[in-house]
Amino acid sequence: MIDLHCHSTASDGVLPPADVVAKAASLGLRAIALTDHDTTAGLAEAREAGLRLGVEVVGGCEFSVAVPWGEMHLLAYFIEPGDAAIEAFLTEARSDRSRRARDMVTRLVGLGVKISSEDVLRESGGAAIGRPHVARALQRLGHVTSVQQAFDRYIGRGRPAFVEKQLPSLSAVADLVHARGGVVSAAHLKSFGTVANLGPLKEQGLDAVETRHPSHTGDYLATITDAAMSLDLARSGGSDWHGESDAAGTHAALGSQQVPDEWLGLLRARCPGSAGPH
Ligand code: AMP
Ligand code: FE
Ligand code: FE
Ligand code: ZN
Repeated sequence: MIDLHCHSTASDGVLPPADVVAKAASLGLRAIALTDHDTTAGLAEAREAGLRLGVEVVGGCEFSVAVPWGEMHLLAYFIEPGDAAIEAFLTEARSDRSRRARDMVTRLVGLGVKISSEDVLRESGGAAIGRPHVARALQRLGHVTSVQQAFDRYIGRGRPAFVEKQLPSLSAVADLVHARGGVVSAAHLKSFGTVANLGPLKEQGLDAVETRHPSHTGDYLATITDAAMSLDLARSGGSDWHGESDAAGTHAALGSQQVPDEWLGLLRARCPGSAGPH
């Protein structure tokens, strides 16, 4: 089995990249993709650990893009760290994340919560800043008792300290990734994973859909799988592991999603310039 969606301290995960790979090795996973939000900074360390421990580490990254229903996460696979075009794009995305973290702090202060940008920066430790860092700072300062409570009270979508990220278009990210030989897969679509929604995204460059994900309970898995098959999109899957214990059905344990090794080869066959069937 493999796992094509997980996070490290390079973004909002809690374990360093090498520890994520060590966990994968201990579980007997043959391959993982490290898909940190808006950064490839964890890949070199993960690769080094992967070589040592016999785990293939696929170069990945989780982008956030604009779609008709709002924000969608887009997993890129087979990208290499250090590529000038991708790194320039990601540097801009991360600086917008920093801007947004400051805006969230301003909102929180306006709500009477004593927190500073330094508190959030300390939590992120130089990583791509996300809401989990704000949530952990709130918890550390005693304003909430859990990360979940921070999302529910303050920074979840629709809550008073929520601030949007700047979102590029799907086609902008797809073009960027395709130009470097990679593919893109739509992450955790839940109820949005329909043929009606995915048809236009395929025209904008979507290669695959994440079917297996901890949030795909009930009918979601079947609906999304059917949509992928009927549109001839490849499949990806993963745990969205962030190394933490509690994440309310959106993250799960590494390796828990039963993703078959063959899916990686099928994804690779979609890469521009590959000798695959597409
Ligand atoms: P951001 O990209 O900064 O908007 O943060 C999104 C990240 O926050 C997701 O990738 C999850 O790691 C985390 N997240 C989102 N919603 C929740 C939630 N309700 N509880 C815990 N973590 C969450
Ligand atoms: Fe995350
Ligand atoms: Fe995501
Ligand atoms: Zn993720």
